[in-house]
Amino acid sequence: MEKSVRLQYLEAMGIDAWELRHPSIVTEQAVAAPVGWASQSEAHHFDAADNEAAPTAEYPAVDETATDHRHAEPALQTAASDSSCISESDAFAPLPHHPKSHTDDQAWKDLQHEVAICRACALCETRTQTVFGVGNKHATWLLIGEAPGRDEDLQGEPFVGRAGQLLNEMIRAIGMRREQVYIANMLKCRPPNNRDPRAEEVDACHDFLKRQIELIQPKLIVAVGRIAAQNLLKTQQPLARLRGIRHELAGIPLTVVHHPAYLLRSLPEKAKAWEDLQFALSVYQSLET
Ligand code: URA
Repeated sequence: MEKSVRLQYLEAMGIDAWELRHPSIVTEQAVAAPVGWASQSEAHHFDAADNEAAPTAEYPAVDETATDHRHAEPALQTAASDSSCISESDAFAPLPHHPKSHTDDQAWKDLQHEVAICRACALCETRTQTVFGVGNKHATWLLIGEAPGRDEDLQGEPFVGRAGQLLNEMIRAIGMRREQVYIANMLKCRPPNNRDPRAEEVDACHDFLKRQIELIQPKLIVAVGRIAAQNLLKTQQPLARLRGIRHELAGIPLTVVHHPAYLLRSLPEKAKAWEDLQFALSVYQSLET
C-alpha cells in the first residue's frame, strides 16, 4: 500500500509513525479541490542530505548555545501542554467580526498595492520586490513567518526555499495543502543578509499584517519560529516557553511552531515540530466544538 505523505514526513523526522483517526481537519475553507493527502509523487522527498543539510549562507550552522541567532530556537525545557493557558499580546486589538464581502476584493487590491510601493523603512532600498503573502484569502489557518529570505525576495512569495518545502510538508502533515492556508510574514521585505528584523521594521510593517488578519479573519494563527512568535506576542520569552500554549492575537487563538529553517539543521527538534503541529491542531479542533 502507498505510504501516506504524513507517514513519510514522520519517518523523515525520525518519529515513530501512527495514524490520526481523522486525517482531514479542514471543513470551512473556500477551496475547490477536495481535501486529502497529496500523492506520493507530489511530496517532497526527504533524504539524509535534507536532514543533515550543510550550513549555507542562507541557513548558517546554528550555534546551539546562542540565544539570539536567527532561527536558533533553544531546545525545549518546559513546554507547557495546558491549552487553557492564554497569553494575549496587546500589539493587535481584538477584531470586530464582520462578514466577508465583495468589498474585500478591493481592500485586498489596495493593500497589495500599498505594500508593493511601500517605502516606510530602509528595507525598500535593498529588496528585489515586496513579498505580500500567498494562499487562500478565506483560510481558517494563517501562518506568519518573520521575513522573506533570498528565495522569497527573488520570487515574491513567502516560504519558497528549502524551508518553504519543509513548511509545505508540515502543512500536509496536518491534513492540508499549502493552497488552503494563508502564509504571510511579519515583514514584507527581506532584511539584508537575513539578519533579524529590527524593531522599526516590524513597526513599519505592522499595519499591513494587521489588515491581512482583518481581511482573512482566520480561526487560528500559527507563528512560525521564535522571531515571529516573540514579535507578535511582544515577549522576549524563548520559544521553549511559548510552545504548547494557546496565546491570542487580535482575539484569535495563536500557537507557535519551530521555524522550518531551524528544523532543517536540527534533527532532534523535528519531533518537537510535530508536537507543535499536533497542539495547533488540538486548539483548532477545540474551536469547532
Ligand atoms: N523564513 C521566513 O520566516 N519567511 C519566509 O518567507 C522564508 C523564510
